[in-house]
Amino acid sequence: RKADIECAMLVLGAGPGGYTAAFRAADLGLDTVLVERYPQLGGVCLNVGCIPSKALLHAAAVVDEAAHAKDYGIDFGKPKIALDTLRAYKEKVIGQFTKGLAGMAKQRKVRVVAGTGAFVSPNEVEVEGADGKQLIRFGQCIIAAGSQAVKLPGFPWDDARVMDSTDALALADIPKTLLVVGGGIIGLEMATVYRALGSQVTVVEFMDQLMPGTDPDLVKPLADRLRKQGVVVHLKVKASATQAQKQGIKVSFEPAAAGGAAPEAQVFDRVLVAVGRAPNGGKLRAEQAGVSVSERGFIPVDRQMRSNVPHIFAIGDLVGNPMLAHKATHEGKLAAEVAAGEKKEWVARVVPSVAYTDPEIAWVGVTETEAKAKGLKVGVGKFPWAASARAVGIGRSEGFTKLIFDEATHRIVGGGIVGVHAGDLISELALAIEMGCEVGDIAHTIHPHPTLSESVAMAAEVFDGTITDLY
Ligand code: FAD
Repeated sequence: RKADIECAMLVLGAGPGGYTAAFRAADLGLDTVLVERYPQLGGVCLNVGCIPSKALLHAAAVVDEAAHAKDYGIDFGKPKIALDTLRAYKEKVIGQFTKGLAGMAKQRKVRVVAGTGAFVSPNEVEVEGADGKQLIRFGQCIIAAGSQAVKLPGFPWDDARVMDSTDALALADIPKTLLVVGGGIIGLEMATVYRALGSQVTVVEFMDQLMPGTDPDLVKPLADRLRKQGVVVHLKVKASATQAQKQGIKVSFEPAAAGGAAPEAQVFDRVLVAVGRAPNGGKLRAEQAGVSVSERGFIPVDRQMRSNVPHIFAIGDLVGNPMLAHKATHEGKLAAEVAAGEKKEWVARVVPSVAYTDPEIAWVGVTETEAKAKGLKVGVGKFPWAASARAVGIGRSEGFTKLIFDEATHRIVGGGIVGVHAGDLISELALAIEMGCEVGDIAHTIHPHPTLSESVAMAAEVFDGTITDLY
């Protein structure tokens, strides 16, 4: 069969991983085709993930800050929320970037093909779009088809009152009561938005802490603040049965383990299920190209992002955790460069994670929990923001900054920050780990006063007294 399109590089999926890969490949001289099933480029992150959630979180932060201003003598009164305008603001932010991406593709002569792609051979993908089917023959391919929200069974998904994160971001209304199933990053970010806009929010989490996997001390200031704001949190509990009723969704709860406690069944106006994301690797007929896909839908890759078929690469959410946009972008760039002949590889040692909750939580490298589990000998330097004049001045002194370093070499191996703007502050720790920085290097670096970034230097100086020769 004759191909409709021939290209050197085919990128399947136009999320942050895919568009980065396509642009880099084109910049390096490869004739590139980018296949995307949705009308806009940008994938989950731009259209229904990172960007809209942060626009709404900004609105939530403004509501909270205005309420807090009463404490220093400025009363803005009760907020009046025009949902249509807020939605339009979010869409405008997205639109600015989707337009930008389309322009960048055009500028580089990346051919964008609209439709859903699936492999038919190791060098061919068939794309089904509005105008029928097209066969694309490629020299090399980068699979960047991403992930989608896990739809827990047992929920009435045909009822619009049961939402995944995409539905929640659509902001159809502000329900009086909202149940968030899953206390991970996405669940808690959406809980933050809806609570600020006026919903009574309840969160249930199966594990024994919010944001499982994160050091518990980092999570505590957030958990305390959520409770103070009236968010009800049930840990070690699972939503066990649901029933759509006229007045709402009735949810029953069970203890996560035998002998535990669970709250009574309750009716909620809306339920958001945020229990994780599943990779799309199993939906591409990858077997026709000979590409291995795990049972869960992940595509295993080597340090150069190559699948088991050497001319087919895979990147982003569908190669594994952490499912984060900046990891996808980095991998996309690497795969394109390797495909273009550059000799490179990468091991994910330093991928910062950020929960844009209020306060924000950010961490990078080895966590204390991980260090303990692996028997690593680490020291910890912790600086409480209660001692930061800047944090106190803005009325947000509940945070802290901690550095985790190798006890023998004093090199930074990890760190975490909880507090406002933690996500913007964590990059210094990522750089420190990448550069093999020692605690003393940070302590010796002059940080501007009074800033929140100063807390990083202070943490290097107040590190449990393990080091005495800083100066
Ligand atoms: P995706 O963004 O999932 O893109 C894959 C693309 O492939 C999609 O556009 C899809 O339509 C397309 N596709 C799939 N199959 C096919 C096919 N067969 N044919 C054609 N096209 C196909 N990450 C962060 O780093 N920071 C955040 O603040 C953040 N916030 C988030 C908030 C929410 C609510 C959610 C849901 C996610 C968030 N994430 C965040 C995660 C982030 O969105 C993902 O890690 C990122 O989008 C992954 O990029 P990707 O390129 O691997 O895949």
